[in-house]
Amino acid sequence: MLDADERGEESTFPRPSPQPPPDPNRMEVLVYPHPVLRRGGKVVTQFDADLQKLSAQMMEAMYEEGGVGLAAPQVGVELKLLVLNPSGDPKERSGELTLLNPRITRKKGREFGEEGCLSFPGIQAEVERWIDITITYQDLAGAEQAMKAEGWLARIIQHELDHLDGVVFVDRLTAGEKLRVKTKLLELEEQFRPV
Ligand SMILES: [Zn+2]
Repeated sequence: MLDADERGEESTFPRPSPQPPPDPNRMEVLVYPHPVLRRGGKVVTQFDADLQKLSAQMMEAMYEEGGVGLAAPQVGVELKLLVLNPSGDPKERSGELTLLNPRITRKKGREFGEEGCLSFPGIQAEVERWIDITITYQDLAGAEQAMKAEGWLARIIQHELDHLDGVVFVDRLTAGEKLRVKTKLLELEEQFRPV
């Protein structure tokens, strides 16, 4: 059947605005207990345009989901790659960091602080982390870098670095905190449908 335009008639109803096509570049964040979250990432050896694209897509997915950090295994990519922005604000690009093959070389002091995780929707818990850290990593060009971080930034880095080893923040909870989030974890386990 022809529609109104093709018949040369004027439509009397407002046309619904067309649905945007699904964005093929849009990434899905895997949710606990997806098994890929336990696999961690392999060392990045190819510093090419594909890696830059992956990093940019992950940064956008992180903003989209309202996060401050995202590790490659969370989007099903088993690489030692993480992106972060402590502000979580796409208008504040200066806070963006992409870390390849990061590792902690120095650490000092311990403190508890609240964390959430895009792979654990609806769960917040107190986690003990190092307060001051020094890390080495490679940038997107493959150049070796080192940086110091403290407080919130250090916490984000440690949380995301754990993902690269297949460790998730609920693994690090005290017995009391584990008990407190147990029901929500079970809910996520019940909702999970293996694909
Ligand atoms: Zn996380």
